[in-house]
Amino acid sequence: MTRTVYLNGEYLPENEAKVSIFDRGFLMADGVYEVTSVLGGKLIDFDGHAVRLNRSLDELDMNNPISKEDLLEVHRELVRENKIVDGMIYLQITRGAPDDRDFVFPDPETTPQTIVLFTQNKPGLANSPVAKVGIKVISIEDARWGRRDIKTVQLLYPSMGKMMAKKAGADDAWMVEDGFVTEGTSNNAYIVKGNKIITRALSNDILHGITRAAVLRFAKEAQMEVEERNFTIEEAMQADEAFITSASTFVMPVVEIDGAQLGDRTPGKVAPRLREIYLEESIKKAI
Ligand code: PMP
Repeated sequence: MTRTVYLNGEYLPENEAKVSIFDRGFLMADGVYEVTSVLGGKLIDFDGHAVRLNRSLDELDMNNPISKEDLLEVHRELVRENKIVDGMIYLQITRGAPDDRDFVFPDPETTPQTIVLFTQNKPGLANSPVAKVGIKVISIEDARWGRRDIKTVQLLYPSMGKMMAKKAGADDAWMVEDGFVTEGTSNNAYIVKGNKIITRALSNDILHGITRAAVLRFAKEAQMEVEERNFTIEEAMQADEAFITSASTFVMPVVEIDGAQLGDRTPGKVAPRLREIYLEESIKKAI
């Protein structure tokens, strides 16, 4: 099926949406993105993604070319046009396409930004059979730049990390810096010890996950203990459980780290319970 996508104010068939070769997103990864899940035709945590988008743009001195109200309407129109029940909406904003390649930022008065949104159809997204068995991760060095809190389209290293995991027969990779886990290639990382959930504190070293914020809030509400601190791969291997969170995987149990199985190699109790709470509460609030 040909998707309808959004490009700079227009709804177009996907094969008619074209961006300049001088676009700074293409030449310099000078752009930011967001991914919002759709469940039952409704947007999960749209507000959280809109707030983080503004923050990413601000940090890069980029204007926001679209109001929050218009952005919501574009999301909804794409869901309607493409008949999405479950899936994702990808949004990207770049610094636009100046007349020529240049390291210096173009004048935003004369170079409008590029804004693109498209849908990804994923029927049954919340009922992934993988969540019932959990995933395997490997550890790799974190070789990304120093501003991982900004959601840029610089995804080459995370992409290489996924390939390293695939080659090793695993599902994903956890990145390690100075001996401590930062995060997964496209998700935040957690370990569980007893009733305690341990995850790295927010800083410029990791993306401030929208799912992370919601899950930690729900965990505290459910009387689980949350400790925001660094942990090592060795500590993770000894943990009772582990899991990842992201807008498209929600809460996903991890059952193996660098070949070592966690607990009895089942998703355990805490991660599946958090997944259940997260999905239930987020679907309730979806718009
Ligand atoms: N960390 C990284 C590096 C990511 O790419 C993502 C997903 N984009 C996340 C964490 C999770 O963020 P969110 O819950 O907002 O999807």
